[in-house]
Amino acid sequence: MNTYRDIFKWGDKRETPIDSGTFKIIKEKFGYAEPDLQVKHLFGNQEVKLGSQCQLEKSIIKKLAEIVGSENIKDDDFSRASHAHGKFYAELLKLRKGEILSPPDLVIYPRSEEDIIQILEVCNINKIAITPVGGRSSVTCGVETPNKGISLDLTKHLNKVLEVNTINSTSTVQSGMFGPAFENYLNNFGEGFTCGHFPQSFEYSTVGGWVAAKGAGQASTGYGKIEHMVLSLKVITPSGIIETKTYPASAQGWDLHPIFIGSEGTLGVITRVTMKIHKHKPENTKYASFIFKNFDSAVNAMRIAMQSGIGLPHLFRISDPEESEIAFKSKNFDNTFADKFLNLLGYKSGNRCLMFVAVDGSKRYVNQVIKSIKEITKTQGAFFIGAGPTKKWLEQQYSSAYLRDPLMDLGIMTDTLETAVMWDNLIPLWNAVRNYLKSRKKTVVMVHISHVYENGANLYFTFLSPMQKGNELNDYHEYHKGIIETIQTHKGSLSHHHGVGKTLAPWMEKEIGSEALKLMQAIKNQLDPNGIMNPGNTLGLKP
Ligand SMILES: Cc1cc2nc3c(=O)[nH]c(=O)nc-3n(C[C@H](O)[C@H](O)[C@H](O)COP(=O)(O)OP(=O)(O)OC[C@H]3O[C@@H](n4cnc5c(N)ncnc54)[C@H](O)[C@@H]3O)c2cc1C
Repeated sequence: MNTYRDIFKWGDKRETPIDSGTFKIIKEKFGYAEPDLQVKHLFGNQEVKLGSQCQLEKSIIKKLAEIVGSENIKDDDFSRASHAHGKFYAELLKLRKGEILSPPDLVIYPRSEEDIIQILEVCNINKIAITPVGGRSSVTCGVETPNKGISLDLTKHLNKVLEVNTINSTSTVQSGMFGPAFENYLNNFGEGFTCGHFPQSFEYSTVGGWVAAKGAGQASTGYGKIEHMVLSLKVITPSGIIETKTYPASAQGWDLHPIFIGSEGTLGVITRVTMKIHKHKPENTKYASFIFKNFDSAVNAMRIAMQSGIGLPHLFRISDPEESEIAFKSKNFDNTFADKFLNLLGYKSGNRCLMFVAVDGSKRYVNQVIKSIKEITKTQGAFFIGAGPTKKWLEQQYSSAYLRDPLMDLGIMTDTLETAVMWDNLIPLWNAVRNYLKSRKKTVVMVHISHVYENGANLYFTFLSPMQKGNELNDYHEYHKGIIETIQTHKGSLSHHHGVGKTLAPWMEKEIGSEALKLMQAIKNQLDPNGIMNPGNTLGLKP
């Protein structure tokens, strides 16, 4: 039996147990008693059954089947339901409730670029919506299909590396390739390479999704965000094909890449991407971890490191006091000898902050960067706690997100929002958003910085709070709206790496201004005159 849980469950399909440290936190922070921990709220284990059938005309389905072969077209309930939503918290709630109001009519798995050209032709003539999808890990309703139509799934066939060029240090890859398959291929090619892009969703997201949603990996401080990695790409739009050439840099007028990187399926289907790759030398990677007395000094250390020309760490991360406290508590660190010792030294629980650093590259480079970071952190009063905590953190860099589902099972709202901010505004924004989040009773707010630049950084908010049972969606939407408004009022970007999708679209005009939105709309109208590409207000664009 195929259930809703099979669709929304993130990560390893086996159930993820909650560890004893986290249970303790749940009891302490939310006032849960033992019986509350046995409840399974909106577990979603009912069989998937859609109320509606595919509404496309038979003649159109026949044409599409002639293009891709009938084995690459699915109209069964489970295929359509599992392509109706991504992984935004509100979408997870809908799936748990078995409420899929607007599934795509068909799921199509194109075999080649030629198939995509023909599918787009049919859809353009007949004004049928198309939503290109990769891993469907979008957390902004990016893959939702409010206009139904076709969910174009690239993962089944367009999932190969087309070229690795070791002289240029580049790789051309089809967009439907998942992170681990791509990285594995590169690691084992020649002397070994890496793509350097490791979002927390790495295991279940694709190269095309990374580019289309303008993502960032956990090692982005060293390797860059996805827009810093793409050298060229190919996009099939309803109006024609755009393929950029591969150069290390160029000056032939406008750069077209930023139009498509972050286009979220609204302009066309990205079919292949040529990316920078890097030598893979994990044996050289060096790690360091630090504790600071407070968030200000940790942020200062990070900023100074980024502005001192010492070289770049790849992973560079600090957790604010509450996130650090939760990290310690979940490992049952409270009241241990080490905890008392740190408190005695002035690294007091509730104020202290953790910093994780990892540097890739040649032995000489990594030694130099780590040495400089140690010197800088010392000037900010940090205590060096060795390589171990960073290595431990890296071990769970993907699997920590598996906890969201069991927490939601316990009726705990579990979501994240992220933004980018200039250094001089980072602490005020952190305070403002935290204050707003904390205005909700019994809310745990954990914040970290994980993508760092010379001029500023991101802030990533994770919040946990008991759901209003029976009113989960309205309650969440109200709260979520307030968070975004607080971020915008306090000059944070609308998004740093999750993209905009349909979720943040209502705030786009305020973010970029009406003239800028008109320009985006003009580009959309040129490439997609019938508004078939990922319609439904994605990025604030109208059909
Ligand atoms: C637990 C979790 C952790 C996450 N952590 C991170 C993180 O650390 N960093 C980060 O950047 N993001 C993160 N995300 C968000 C998400 O994983 C990223 O946006 C990711 O890049 C999406 O890739 P995907 O293959 O799943 O794309 P999808 O979700 O399938 O699609 C995302 C958007 O891109 C469009 N699209 C997909 N493929 C194409 C294509 N070939 N051509 C045109 N448009 C296309 C879709 O229409 C949609 O609008 C996380 C999500 C989850 C659930």
